[in-house]
Amino acid sequence: MNKQWRSIEDLNNSKEVEKFKYREFQEGASELGEGVSRRDFLKFLGSTAALAGLSGCNIRKPYYKIKPYAKKLEHVVPGTPTFYATSYQLNSAVYGVLVETHEGRPTKIEGNPLYPESNGSSLLYQQSSVIDLYDPDRLKSPKNLTKSETIDEFKDSMLGLKDKFLKSKGNGLVFLIEDVLSPTTYALIDSILSRMPEAKFYRYESYNNDNQRFGLKDLTNQFLNTKFDLTRSNVIVSFSDDFLSFGQHQIQYSREFSDRRDPDSDIDLNRLYSFEERFTVTGSKADHRYPVKQSDIAEVLSQLLILVARKVGFNDLDRYANVSYKPVELDFIDHNTLTIIADDLIANRRRSLITAGSHLDSSIHQLVFLINSILGNNFNTVFYQAMPFLNYGFNKVSSIDSISNLVDDLNSNKVDTILILGGNPVYSAPNSLGLKRALSKAVNRIHLTYYDNETSKLCNWVVPRLHYLESWNDLESSDGVVSIAQPVIHRTVEGLTDHEFLNLVFRVYRSDYSLVKNSWNFLSSEQFDKVIHDGFYTKKNILTYPSITKVNPIQTKTAVSSNHELEVTLYPDYKILDGRFSNNGWLQEMPDPIHKLTWDNAAYIAPKTAKRLGLVTGDVVRLQSNGSDLEIPVFISPGHAIDAISISMGYGKQLGHRIEDGVGFNAFNLFDTDFIVSNVTLINTGEKHTFATTQDHGSMEGRPHVRYATVSEYNQNPTFAQGMEEVPHNESLWKNHEYNTGYQWGMVIDLTRCTSCNACTASCQAENNIPIVGKDQVLNGREMQWLRTDRYYEGNEDNPKILDQPVACLHCENAPCEQVCPVAATVHDDEGLNVMVYNRCVGTRYCSDNCPVKVRRFNFFDYHQRNPQSVDKKRFHLFDYIKEPDKSIAKQFNPDVTVRMRGIMEKCTYCIQRIKSATIKASNEDRSVKDADLKTACQQACPTDGIAFGNILDENSQVFKWRKKQRNYSILEQLLLGARTTYLANVFNPNKLLVATNSSGKKEHHGNKH
Ligand code: SF4
Repeated sequence: MNKQWRSIEDLNNSKEVEKFKYREFQEGASELGEGVSRRDFLKFLGSTAALAGLSGCNIRKPYYKIKPYAKKLEHVVPGTPTFYATSYQLNSAVYGVLVETHEGRPTKIEGNPLYPESNGSSLLYQQSSVIDLYDPDRLKSPKNLTKSETIDEFKDSMLGLKDKFLKSKGNGLVFLIEDVLSPTTYALIDSILSRMPEAKFYRYESYNNDNQRFGLKDLTNQFLNTKFDLTRSNVIVSFSDDFLSFGQHQIQYSREFSDRRDPDSDIDLNRLYSFEERFTVTGSKADHRYPVKQSDIAEVLSQLLILVARKVGFNDLDRYANVSYKPVELDFIDHNTLTIIADDLIANRRRSLITAGSHLDSSIHQLVFLINSILGNNFNTVFYQAMPFLNYGFNKVSSIDSISNLVDDLNSNKVDTILILGGNPVYSAPNSLGLKRALSKAVNRIHLTYYDNETSKLCNWVVPRLHYLESWNDLESSDGVVSIAQPVIHRTVEGLTDHEFLNLVFRVYRSDYSLVKNSWNFLSSEQFDKVIHDGFYTKKNILTYPSITKVNPIQTKTAVSSNHELEVTLYPDYKILDGRFSNNGWLQEMPDPIHKLTWDNAAYIAPKTAKRLGLVTGDVVRLQSNGSDLEIPVFISPGHAIDAISISMGYGKQLGHRIEDGVGFNAFNLFDTDFIVSNVTLINTGEKHTFATTQDHGSMEGRPHVRYATVSEYNQNPTFAQGMEEVPHNESLWKNHEYNTGYQWGMVIDLTRCTSCNACTASCQAENNIPIVGKDQVLNGREMQWLRTDRYYEGNEDNPKILDQPVACLHCENAPCEQVCPVAATVHDDEGLNVMVYNRCVGTRYCSDNCPVKVRRFNFFDYHQRNPQSVDKKRFHLFDYIKEPDKSIAKQFNPDVTVRMRGIMEKCTYCIQRIKSATIKASNEDRSVKDADLKTACQQACPTDGIAFGNILDENSQVFKWRKKQRNYSILEQLLLGARTTYLANVFNPNKLLVATNSSGKKEHHGNKH
């Protein structure tokens, strides 16, 4: 088997990594940190005891009175959760969700199984959105300059403005909005424009689909959204499109892609080729991946287009595209490679698809349309949808043009009053536009926002924007799915919804309910109730069949890059996107799927580029281009394109918020209308930065954990995954317990399906009251997530393969942790669960030392009390460890799960609370639990259906069937653990011709059974 390595340091056997391998907890892990030594900690413990003596027992848990309901709420049964369907918009996507509430508190978000595309799954963002509701840093009441006001005072101030603008017909009144998908919002815009026709609307989304939208408009004379059918796509070629990780169809694409990766089904596996500058989640699932600079993508695509056109006899190419034949000779791609890919595409005409990332130039999207058209893929695997709401002029102008026009109007003193609905354009718009300076020219600047941010700092009225869980809304997705969204909690801040805010512009206050209801008054009350219950109304057919109408041939903008010229690509962060979630602690602490980086962003560069420039991970560099600069540490990223740098956006905020403040570096400093910044100068500042990355934590020392084969190897040897480790004969000194009756719980994770999207980890965090610990604790190897996704590289550091593996407690029948616990705090139950008895745990941590997969998490401190989201940093001192922090985030706690305090070992329980609830319900109904009754939190969230859980004795259960598959294997089987969590080995589908020979004539490596 080839070596699987976690980082360049691991590949080179560095001492640091050895340290992580051989120590369960890092040196000093039991120190308090932040300059507090063990000695101080003991002193502090002493003072805690003394204070406890002074004030009795109330110091840890203040005294609260429990008040009963004076009037019982309808439908609320204490202890039983209630679920509500709703939907919400994120960027230009709409998600249908089910919200679990406990006595009026939303605690958990799931996908709405009735909502098209969702199938009950969800993403990292939905899972984490619930904690934003309770964020103590949210704006709580309106502010007029620095003074707090009531919402009624704001409404009164709007009355004066309303009269003024009705009189002037809206002259001098402008709105800056984000992408809008709500029919009620458009109805309100109509009302405003009918009374104030001079009012103007501008839009701005920092990360958007404009390049594709306007590229296709230029080509076909239609505004279009694209939609793939991956179930019919045998061959996929992606040019830097991370479609498994971003975009409005991420859930559907993840599932459809994975459904075509099942080597045990009758349908052939799909094949994915990926050309990309940085390792993406989609690239990590590719059968063939090629690192390439963004500026070279147009050339690679052009040559592929020419090869395809020649081979299919499409002789008209010159009429459509200004491309000329020139054999490609790049670091990892040559003419031979493209010829083989072209042949594969042609062999799968009408069953292949080409796609390009939304950040790429509009001409690339035009070439993609053309090649899909030549291959017959258009309307077979690639579909086009008419964009909704096109009768609004602002939707026909790109974000950058729209905000540039706004700045021009501000600078020409044409704006008296600006109303900004959401967003943070002062932070995310290009500095070169000068929005910050221009904004001060408007007399009245009013911002509706979740947080006081860079934009609201420049506004005289700042009004809290309600969270989607507090609001009525209606939405129409780009797929034509129309839904009505309902609030699931009473407002927690004194704010307004977008609808209420817009309504105040032309008339007196009306509630969001009445505004939304008014848009749906054609429904009877029964129909309205059904829409609310189901979470969606209808799905419109908005398919359209465009053709090329452009007269002039497509002209690509980018040329092949010159040697060693550095270019930077900016992209939305895997966790906080463009910074809209930067104050979410769960997301900040979630290791990103590729580099396992927490609490930071970085300038990712290729190992070769780092060597050429004399850089190592952590070196702080200054990047300069066109008068902009950014200081940021580099992170060496195996598989990155040479002479390219990629940086995620959304970090580097300095507003004093508890989570985001001072985290990472602001990539928007380099943003200048384009996400590719060329001609970049790099200067090593000599400074150093420490990254909190988990990639070397929890090492299992190079054993064959991730097992995989090519599909032909699998067909020849279906049991390849078993027997990769030498297993001693199973002779035990004692009689093993027999688990052959009742429920016996087990889990199987299909590595072929898993995309490392992290939805499972976030879902587990929300379900099981798992705290965040902060960057300093992650640096000590103390992260608390019960489920991690390990990422291994294999092969050469310049272009390795990535292999992912989610790992949580394996619930071993012969659990090594149980054998060493001196107080029997971790034991086995009759249903095969390895359980923790929290109140027996004395914190020796022997169990964790003895855990071969390192999945046990120890609460060195009372992290719930220390959680930066719950503790006000401004008043942080030692006594905060015993003081009660802000209570708001505790409202998210799942009451079915114990909230652990300091000194407790914890780990995955297979969501025992869900198991108990399902078994009690089934027992009351005098039947046994079936698959449909029970899903663990990770399983429920997983968008690829990559996790099976259930009773391993039930022949009808999915977990039983998966355990019977020949790909099923246990990790560390030589330890005879009897693991209840097993894995289905990964199967790739490489092109045999490319495996046989790559561009340099060397053998490519696929499969670890060679
Ligand atoms: S197992 Fe987890 S990381 Fe893998 S696809 Fe499912 S949810 Fe995402």
